Amino acid sequence: MRLSAYPIPNLKELPAEAEVVSHQLMLRAGLIRRLSAGLYTWLPMGLRVLRKVERIIREEMDRAGALEVLMPTIQPAELWQESGRWDQFGPELLRLKDRHERGFVYGPTHEEVITDIARRELKSYRQLPVNFYQIQLKFRDEIRPRFGVMRAREFIMKDAYSFHLDDASLEAGYRAMYDAYTRIFSRMGLKFRAVLADPGAIGGTGSQEFHVLAASGEDAIAFSDGDDYAANIEKAEALPPPGPRPAPSSARATVPTPHVRTIAELAALLQVPAARCVKTLIVDGADGGLVALVIRGDHELNAVKAQGLEAVASPLRMAAPERIARELGAQIGFLGPLGLPCPVIADHSALALADFVCGANEPDAHLTGVNWGRDLPEPAAADLRNVVDGDPSPTGRGHLSIARGIEVGHVFKLGRKYSEALDATVLDEQGKSVAMLMGCYGIGVTRVVAAAIEQNHDERGIIWPEPLAPFDVVLVPINFQKSARVREASERLYAEFTAAGLEVLLDDRDARPGVKFADAELYGIPHRVVIGERGLDAGRLEYRHRRATDSEEFALADAIAFLQSRRAR
Ligand code: ATP
Ligand code: MG
Repeated sequence: MRLSAYPIPNLKELPAEAEVVSHQLMLRAGLIRRLSAGLYTWLPMGLRVLRKVERIIREEMDRAGALEVLMPTIQPAELWQESGRWDQFGPELLRLKDRHERGFVYGPTHEEVITDIARRELKSYRQLPVNFYQIQLKFRDEIRPRFGVMRAREFIMKDAYSFHLDDASLEAGYRAMYDAYTRIFSRMGLKFRAVLADPGAIGGTGSQEFHVLAASGEDAIAFSDGDDYAANIEKAEALPPPGPRPAPSSARATVPTPHVRTIAELAALLQVPAARCVKTLIVDGADGGLVALVIRGDHELNAVKAQGLEAVASPLRMAAPERIARELGAQIGFLGPLGLPCPVIADHSALALADFVCGANEPDAHLTGVNWGRDLPEPAAADLRNVVDGDPSPTGRGHLSIARGIEVGHVFKLGRKYSEALDATVLDEQGKSVAMLMGCYGIGVTRVVAAAIEQNHDERGIIWPEPLAPFDVVLVPINFQKSARVREASERLYAEFTAAGLEVLLDDRDARPGVKFADAELYGIPHRVVIGERGLDAGRLEYRHRRATDSEEFALADAIAFLQSRRAR
């Protein structure tokens, strides 16, 4: 492509909503433009990257034996009523009506449609196993669309659905997708980890997420240094501290703590570590009452673990302050587990404390020297907190450390949820009708592009992993307009590189070299070749890799061999 014929300018004025670097760089480099909240147009340079992501995914899905299909984005409401998700899905589901007043949804996912295909087309165990996939638009009316295409409302997903007769076959199909995902993200040149995930509202029996590691990731993931345990922090188990709780050694006392709002302020005022204080959080109970959750002052509540408890409402809801005041006679900031007229559940590490500090359930006061069993009944115990750096691994081997990741893929054993709801059965070997087992496997195709940038950039711009770059090489002629020799050499290289299978961007604009260099770096093209009169005199050209800090020279005559050698690196 010739930049002189490329009409999209770099964006200089970034909108305030572009908070993360990938969003900023995708706008600046003209990969995308915003149409409306969470809706983006992919411009030519961005679409080239998107197509590369799709191609790698397609090749590996095909290699794994999956069959490509294309399902409509618009789906009849009846199918969603049949699966029960018409009522379960909240406002993320975009509902529409056609001219006949018939209900439809814009698909946020395609389990219903594929299960409808399966129940019509698959009749015998002999047709199993099978895996259908597509690369298709989805719409989810996200409550907070943000970070550009990373959390958009309309986005492209690769979604695959497998159908099986028995568990062993589902296990093998799941494993095949796990392996395909590993190849996909490796081929893209991304640093990633597969982690255990919370199966969440979809239910099912097992699930793993693939995360691109990046400091800006929305998710925290915990790894063990002792083995290959890795889990989303939502799911990572915190082991109870070893050994018995120390015996009480101080008397309980009430201390005035006016104006204290946070654990940090409390710890500073009383000169105790936050780890010796406890926080009491009041949440809605499953039975409509209130439940008190107690965790150590230096820990964070894990919502997924908390809402997984039988006594707690799911999804987790913090109780309203007025209700806490009315029913517990206490005020947020001064809550404690003593004398509460509601069930109390304590995290294992809060339960391991002796002589701890907590709110007094009266204004402007806390208690010190509090002891479980002595000052209040032993509460129920549970794992309620996020794991932290240095926690022992739940496998018993090694310790955990926390990193951040961007979820780009998800593999999931669905079981029979949809096949039972939609009556998708086959005849087994005995001629008996059985509901098929299913797996589902997603990749956020558009999100991958942003995640690749989050992981690979510097202050000057994008640094594409070579397999995703919109162009392999950028040619930067100096004085293209004035020097016939430079023009001629540039055109020749452009033709030769292209013929050798390289994707070439020729910066033939009438612009200063500094502008061209800056744009080449912003665009993140891996290889840059500078063509100037002086170099041509010596038969040599200047080369630099996007990641390198220095240029090197090569002989014009060996241009293709040289470039290929640099690509192979
Ligand atoms: P998240 O927790 O990020 O909302 P999810 O669990 O809702 O993701 P899935 O339903 O498993 O996501 O969808 C499969 C993949 O689609 C995700 O792994 C993610 O990469 C991508 N994805 C999900 N929601 C969005 C979105 N709003 N914008 C872009 N990509 C998305
Ligand atoms: Mg989501």
